Amino acid sequence: MSADTHHKTTKGLSGEVLEHTGVKVDKCYQCGKCTAGCPMASEMDLAPSYLLRMLQTGDAKLEEQVLRSFTIWVCLTCEMCYSRCPMSIDIPKMMDFLREKSMKEKKASKKAKEIIAFHKSFLSSIEKTGRLYELGLTLEYKARTMSIMQDVGVAPAMLSRGKLHILPELIKGRSAVSSIFDKTINKNKK
Ligand code: SF4
Ligand code: SF4
Repeated sequence: MSADTHHKTTKGLSGEVLEHTGVKVDKCYQCGKCTAGCPMASEMDLAPSYLLRMLQTGDAKLEEQVLRSFTIWVCLTCEMCYSRCPMSIDIPKMMDFLREKSMKEKKASKKAKEIIAFHKSFLSSIEKTGRLYELGLTLEYKARTMSIMQDVGVAPAMLSRGKLHILPELIKGRSAVSSIFDKTINKNKK
């Protein structure tokens, strides 16, 4: 690799990905295994391998497209791509960073409105209880998306099957979790 190519991949959005997550997008050689194994690929506007290729170019317009993509929001963080990648590129970790950056810069895809509501509820549930509290999460999600009536028929069945916990179970490391949020998410809100 020439010095020039190396320089190109360490700035811009790929440089930020590297700095914040340690993920080196320049290691990708486009074998396509990640995309072939991704359960959400058909729902995505940019396949995972294609998204990586766009980041490798260092082109500002393509980077903008990545931040505005629907792909980063439909990714389930299931790690299927990571386990198949011959270069061990941690795509889910990169997606996580891209989601946070997209949200912070108000570039999130309009198509992802409901998914983002869920994402925020998920984080807020962990922040409050130190762990995921499913009923709280469902209610907060519904309140955020203004569709509280949508699943009322489903909740009692889930409760009777023990799928939803009535009270949030607090974990010992709750204060540690709160401090992580203060240093990251809450700091970004200020
Ligand atoms: S982590 Fe995301 S990109 Fe990777 S396989 Fe799962 S859904 Fe697809
Ligand atoms: S599996 Fe790894 S090397 Fe292959 S295209 Fe996907 S990220 Fe690139």
